[in-house]
Amino acid sequence: MSQAVEPSPQCPDPHLSRSGLRKDDPLDQVLLPLRKPVYILLQDHGRAQRLAQQLEFFGLVVQALPSAAAFLASISEYPPSAIIMDVDFTGIGQGLLLADQVQRGLAQCIPLLFFSHHEADTPTRLAAVRAGGQDFLTGSLEASSLLEKVERLTNAAQHDPLRVLIIDDSRTQALHTERVLVSAGMVTRSLTDPIRTMAELADFQPDLIILDLYMPACTGPELAKVIRHSDRYVSVPIIYLSAEDDLDKQLDAMSEGGDDFLTKPFRSRHLITTVRNRAARARHLKARMVRDSLTGLYNHTHILQLLEDCSFRARREQQPLSFAMLDIDHFKKINDRHGHPMGDRVIKSLALFLKQRLRKTDFIGRYGGEEFAIVMPNTALEAAHKVLDDIRRRFAEILYPAQPRDLQCTFSAGVVQLDDGLDALTMASAADEALYRAKHAGRNCVVRVEP
Ligand code: GH3
Ligand code: MG
Ligand code: MG
Repeated sequence: MSQAVEPSPQCPDPHLSRSGLRKDDPLDQVLLPLRKPVYILLQDHGRAQRLAQQLEFFGLVVQALPSAAAFLASISEYPPSAIIMDVDFTGIGQGLLLADQVQRGLAQCIPLLFFSHHEADTPTRLAAVRAGGQDFLTGSLEASSLLEKVERLTNAAQHDPLRVLIIDDSRTQALHTERVLVSAGMVTRSLTDPIRTMAELADFQPDLIILDLYMPACTGPELAKVIRHSDRYVSVPIIYLSAEDDLDKQLDAMSEGGDDFLTKPFRSRHLITTVRNRAARARHLKARMVRDSLTGLYNHTHILQLLEDCSFRARREQQPLSFAMLDIDHFKKINDRHGHPMGDRVIKSLALFLKQRLRKTDFIGRYGGEEFAIVMPNTALEAAHKVLDDIRRRFAEILYPAQPRDLQCTFSAGVVQLDDGLDALTMASAADEALYRAKHAGRNCVVRVEP
């Protein structure tokens, strides 16, 4: 379900309104998921308004609020997805107090980001932590870094349960473990035949594995070694769960690819805490490994990996899958005329633009310097082409403030759909070929390859 987003009521800026979001715009109805507002409250209200506009242009709904009264009135009526609060909003340290007061009154905390115009001392930062602040920014607030933070906070707040794979030859034991973890909000799968482990890993992509020590087909440590053979699963935590109470044997198992050892019978709370901590940390580390540092998008290796995973799944479920490659047009000129930092800004802004305008189920990667790749599950060629073409049209409307005149830029794209004869790599090169044709057709267009 998606809905159109109301435009910001505050002072329209001619640069932004052209690409700003209009009500009754069919594109926004198609592309934008339902979004709660982000509230921004700064000592300098004019600045808050300017930031709100810049953020809106990336598809967020942002409201700059001028007073504590306006904030208190809005928060009960339209609960926000996140709050950006100046520690000195309406007076030195007053923002901290206001945020604290509001969070205390809520059943569930709202992601909260504090800002201080000056470098903040430790007591201020501590007060921010105690008021429920999840992040702290200082200095000049820049729209794109702010957007990244808000994205991260709101995604973290979204319910994305931890995934745990249980490998145990005893169905009863596996079911018991599953029940405990599911009761703590995790998603589980169990496997009684260890030989099927690798296929299950690829399909389920667990954050953590619970492994039995003794099974008929193989031992836990043997299986752990096999799992570690694959680069993809080197860092997935493995916890042994066994009745083995010989400490030496436990330590041996741990030294062979395991991360922890729990003995049966276990206490539910012990299992839940151990699994949750390890899985959450592993997920955090993995996010760093697979992402590009400039844009936060998936890196080259990982997007290809995702394309492969998705193509297996699409085949099995007989669903369409599309893949696109994008490349910014005449990007060298942007670097040459406006400098490398401006080039980086354009790359980042296209990344954010794609993130905001594609579905949450699509995967976006930075394929190379100014090249992007998009995996679109459950999407047929026609629909993929339409979405990309809409994004292309919108992106071309953005004006980047620059001298002597504002800068506009475009991209070209090639898109293909998964076909019987295609594997992931052939699909990628077909998309690349389509992109090449788009460049030759004069750029600023999307070329699709009919299956
Ligand atoms: P075309 O329309 O054919 O794609 O022309 P183009 O100029 O965009 O293509 P080309 O591949 O010749 O140039 C890409 C340039 O992108 C070259 C490289 O210096 C620059 N570039 C690559 N990575 C980055 C980056 O991370 N930041 C910046 N600012 N520039 C980059
Ligand atoms: Mg280019
Ligand atoms: Mg290029």
